[in-house]
Amino acid sequence: MSTISNGGAVALETPRIPVKRNRLKNLPIAGEKRILLAAPRGYCAGVDRAVIAVEKALENYGAPVYVRKQIVHNIYVVTTLEKKGAIFVDEVDEVPEGSHIVFSAHGVSPAVVKGAADRQLQAIDATCPLVTKVHREAVRFARDDFEILLIGHHGHEEVEGTMGHAPERTTLVNSPADVPNITVKNPDHLVWLSQTTLSVDETMETVRLLRERFPNLQDPPSDDICYATQNRQVAIKKVAEEAELVIVVGSANSSNTVRLVDVALENGARAAYRVDYASEIKQEWLDGIATIGVTSGASVPEVLVQEVLDDLADAGYTDVAQVVTAEEDLMFSLPKELRTDAAGNPDERGLGGRSRKLDWQRDGA
Ligand code: SF4
Repeated sequence: MSTISNGGAVALETPRIPVKRNRLKNLPIAGEKRILLAAPRGYCAGVDRAVIAVEKALENYGAPVYVRKQIVHNIYVVTTLEKKGAIFVDEVDEVPEGSHIVFSAHGVSPAVVKGAADRQLQAIDATCPLVTKVHREAVRFARDDFEILLIGHHGHEEVEGTMGHAPERTTLVNSPADVPNITVKNPDHLVWLSQTTLSVDETMETVRLLRERFPNLQDPPSDDICYATQNRQVAIKKVAEEAELVIVVGSANSSNTVRLVDVALENGARAAYRVDYASEIKQEWLDGIATIGVTSGASVPEVLVQEVLDDLADAGYTDVAQVVTAEEDLMFSLPKELRTDAAGNPDERGLGGRSRKLDWQRDGA
């Protein structure tokens, strides 16, 4: 079976994107055209693990395999898995009793786990281990009688899952603007936690404002904003110092992708746009632009970035330099149900987070 994960031993399939290509014109500008390609970008270890989990569930159990919510927030990944036999549902009560269901990388509340068990579903939990870490923190602080101020976006699946681990004790802080209206029972027994995919700078500003109101507010034991979110923001900050235009590849419902657009604009880029596919790049964005920054969210397969580079090459942006601010080699083991193949043999495939060389890298760019 072909794979869209980065960690598989099987060669990575690179299908053409199922959208009409939008040939960009190579119009003259003053200066040299170039691309600064942020690194790290694209798949994180948690996303790769989740995508492999669905692929392996399809291999081991056959189609259909049900997935609660989008396995990761990327339309191309979801569409590709649908073609392979995954069925995405909003809630477990849409799944026939006894079926296999995968919980997405964003995590679920205990109520969802119970709902799946009540329907005798065979659950495979692809929650990112770094989200699970936040769940455990919430449970522990609630047990120790803390009130939890959870910084995160209202309605995001990860936030719903985390709040569901300590529903009586958690208050959501959606943005710095929420801070003046927060009420707590005991301001001396208060801790903040956060969604894993927020803007680091905005979150720190929210914490600063919270601490002004509640001086005894405790910090979480370690960063909740995950390594991948932080690394991608650091890289795009560096790129945005020089890039006039930044293109971020990723879907509109991907929190960390949208944050990359914000971070680029806050750190020097004159314009920054998010695209799902290269075909969404508009010719007028390139008017008079010499340096374009390119990056991608943590749920974006590299093939989509390659398409952007290909289309920008048509427009004369063939000089591609990578701006590397960190190396990543983190991998997470697969959910325990999937560590063997259908015959019970140990799985030989990589476990996620592995980087993949691109053609332009092999060419020495
Ligand atoms: S963005 Fe971070 S928390 Fe989310 S799946 Fe990736 S590593 Fe895990």
